[in-house]
Amino acid sequence: MSKITLYHCPKCGAKESCRERRINGNATCENGHKYPSKDAIGADEHLQIELAKTEYVVEANSFEYLSLWKDFHEEYSWEQVSQGYGAHVGYIDGRPIFISLRWATVNEVYMLFWHATSKVVDYGMIEEWFVNNCDPMANGRHARCDADNFIHAILCNGLLKRKVEQDG
Ligand SMILES: [Zn+2]
Repeated sequence: MSKITLYHCPKCGAKESCRERRINGNATCENGHKYPSKDAIGADEHLQIELAKTEYVVEANSFEYLSLWKDFHEEYSWEQVSQGYGAHVGYIDGRPIFISLRWATVNEVYMLFWHATSKVVDYGMIEEWFVNNCDPMANGRHARCDADNFIHAILCNGLLKRKVEQDG
């Protein structure tokens, strides 16, 4: 399983490389900046838990999410998680890249729906963020698709569920 690295330097956005395990401790980023641990970007334990629970990742903006819900919620169970998140992915030329995250349990599989929200977007950097932070596998493949291919997520559910039944 991929290592979850969600703490980033507030000065340059690089990944945190070490952190003192004490109250009011400091942390250091990969570029050597020192800062108070509490100032780190994305220091959110709950977000880490949600990412770890994620079984399928779907790229969909708000409109696409609504369209998918309209198309599929009658045929498949669709339970929306009310809380959404923003995550900071990195910087390009000092300009931040953000993505928006929301979850729903669709056909009993915990799915993450995300889309980029910042003015500057780098899909390579976002891809790397997912590899490092949320990279579920299904049937030997990365469990990821975009809204156009959402049927893969639906079909994969069946495979995941059958696998659980076989293993169980
Ligand atoms: Zn830094």
